[in-house]
Amino acid sequence: QAQRESLLARQAAEAATRTKSEFLATVTHEIRTPLNGILGMAHLLQDGPLTATAREYAQTIEESGQALLTIINDILDFSKIEADKLTLCLEPFHLPRLLQGVIRQLAPLAEQKPGLQLELQMASDLPEYLLGDAGRLRQILINLIGNGIKFTERGQVRLHARVLERQNQRIRLELTVSDSGIGIPPEAQRNLFQAFVQADTSTTRRYGGTGLGLAICKRLLDMMAGSIQLTSRQGIGSCFTVQLPLQLASPPAPSEI
Ligand code: ADP
Repeated sequence: QAQRESLLARQAAEAATRTKSEFLATVTHEIRTPLNGILGMAHLLQDGPLTATAREYAQTIEESGQALLTIINDILDFSKIEADKLTLCLEPFHLPRLLQGVIRQLAPLAEQKPGLQLELQMASDLPEYLLGDAGRLRQILINLIGNGIKFTERGQVRLHARVLERQNQRIRLELTVSDSGIGIPPEAQRNLFQAFVQADTSTTRRYGGTGLGLAICKRLLDMMAGSIQLTSRQGIGSCFTVQLPLQLASPPAPSEI
């Protein structure tokens, strides 16, 4: 009887969590549509004849809107994962191009810090075409490298890619993102992959963020049968190591390019 009751209670709790996550997913999705309208118009406004002050205001609207969109996208992704509503989308992709694209996208952010180098190192035997969810892999890397840039003032943020194992058509890929930044205290490292956790819990936190980025990375890698690990020393830097199995794919036929 007691066992049956605890089973029912657990099922009820799980159903409540799913309902909450579904609600969050719907609400955030609905917020995204008008926000995209605001962003688009704030962008177009900057093309028109404006005074310097008005242009600055329009830029601020766009930047703040972008920051809000990032937060909303994180909440949407996380609640979708929690509600079991997120599925991976497998497609052939070109790995070196994906890695170069991620670096290109984040280069302007790194360039805002004069003493910081953003580097990409690819092992010479890296395969070209793989089968996987390229969009989600890109999201994981952007999160990790974005964090690296956010928490590093001087030195470098480096993305390194290599193949750990190769068996027939399957490989085990390792992607490491290392930085020479502020590092993470040992007591904070253990819980960092949980949702809403940040290393700096003071009320005067210097860095913004929702504490969802790493939790999303971890969940996505779980779904990909991969893993993520962290080594870090305060004042020296951090290194996030991602490993995941992927299948080799053939290049797309010329008509598909
Ligand atoms: P946030 O949106 O707050 O950055 P994350 O889940 O991506 O959320 O990161 C959680 C926390 O982990 C950050 O707030 C920060 O305290 C710490 N952290 C993550 N990456 C790094 C890094 N490369 N260097 C130092 N601290 C980091």
